[in-house]
Amino acid sequence: MPARRFARSGTPRRVATLSVHTSPLDQPGAGDAGGMNVYIVEASRRLADRGIEVDIFTRATSSDLPPVVEMSPGVTVRHVSAGPFEGLGKEELPAQLCAFTAAVLREEAQHEPGYYDVVHSHYWLSGQVGWLARDRWSVPLIHTAHTLAKVKNEALADGDRPEPRARVIGEEQVVAEADRLIANTDEEARQLVRLYGADPARTLVVPPGVDLDRFAPGDRRAARRALGIADDAIVLLFVGRIQPLKAPDVLLHAAAQLLADEPTLRDRLEVHVVGAPSGSGLEAPQQLDKLAADLGIADRVVFHPPQPPERLADHYRAADVTVVPSHNESFGLVALEAQACGTPVVAAAVGGLRTAVRDGVSGVLVDGHDPRDYTAAVRAVLGRRELLSHGARRHAGLFSWDRTADALVAAYTSAAEDMNRLPRQVPHRLPSPLRALPGVQVAR
Ligand code: UDP
Repeated sequence: MPARRFARSGTPRRVATLSVHTSPLDQPGAGDAGGMNVYIVEASRRLADRGIEVDIFTRATSSDLPPVVEMSPGVTVRHVSAGPFEGLGKEELPAQLCAFTAAVLREEAQHEPGYYDVVHSHYWLSGQVGWLARDRWSVPLIHTAHTLAKVKNEALADGDRPEPRARVIGEEQVVAEADRLIANTDEEARQLVRLYGADPARTLVVPPGVDLDRFAPGDRRAARRALGIADDAIVLLFVGRIQPLKAPDVLLHAAAQLLADEPTLRDRLEVHVVGAPSGSGLEAPQQLDKLAADLGIADRVVFHPPQPPERLADHYRAADVTVVPSHNESFGLVALEAQACGTPVVAAAVGGLRTAVRDGVSGVLVDGHDPRDYTAAVRAVLGRRELLSHGARRHAGLFSWDRTADALVAAYTSAAEDMNRLPRQVPHRLPSPLRALPGVQVAR
């Protein structure tokens, strides 16, 4: 039997980051690419700045992809062959986890022993892979869920499918196995403990950041010129993956209401929607255009395909208000980016948006999803935009990817120390669905 290696103490030299279902090289704002992709890119870059090499493993979705891509200095993307390249949906990926795991373990086996010091998995599918890699390499498993099925299922929008039981079970297993769970907010940490039985001592809150150089206030007129928007237009902005969960329909209803209340705004009001369908939104990709037509505001709504960050910053700067009416949001990077550009946000008072937006200071938080409440909130923001714009910049300035990376390094280091100090423990509790299944005898 090969000699058993143990986690190294001190700052890690190399991290295996797992992102099974979506690549950090994808353009966010469509399909499965969103905030998690941005998180992995930004955190990995900052870890590399701190002298920590990052290998990101992601599933190859095209035969054209080279096996290895240097994303930025010290950050390498490794494309893993697991299943057919094109045409596999996220819901089909559980069947590919064995192939994915085998490829990750084989990659590590080509290097000297102890090549990776930490495995950091993102989303539950990666957690399933990381759990095995952790056991095999005797290094800590750090897991960031990004979204949780039980939380999502509690806040389903009309037209959204509930997350399947297999995901719930898979998440419970990863929560039980991970050496550290990284939550975006205090609320997410509490949800992990309350809904998933996470050990509070292993659950840490690490807020995501925002790139304050890229998303910075700028010349609003210049941004509008670049986008072909008139100086006197009133611009309401939605940015994100288009799906019922994000509730862009609430913004369209609110805009229609605003025009009904104040018909004189008819020629000036513009709603800009940046992003493309995702999730259950893919089943009816024209739904939002149709809604705009049904509401009689098709001429006031402009749709833009997903935009790269530099261009997105212009959209935020050009907007009077960014609206984030999501039914659930584990954080809401869009809200933070808009505020960093000096644009106040009207957001639903759900999940991470309660942290990302400071009610009355950097924008307005709205309870529920009644469009009339969003109309009122937009009107309130337009009435004191200058003041809220200052508050928005100040609030966004509290977040940075450097701080995120420092906290991740601390989590990696303390998890490795625990691993060396404490005997390896079997998960302290069994996942509840396993306990609950009738007729199943659980071996102890
Ligand atoms: N995004 C982008 N281009 C787009 C739309 C979105 O780059 O056209 C990025 C946006 O900058 C943000 C991320 O996608 O960083 C969305 O993250 P958020 O947390 O708001 O939502 P999620 O996708 O995680 O649900």
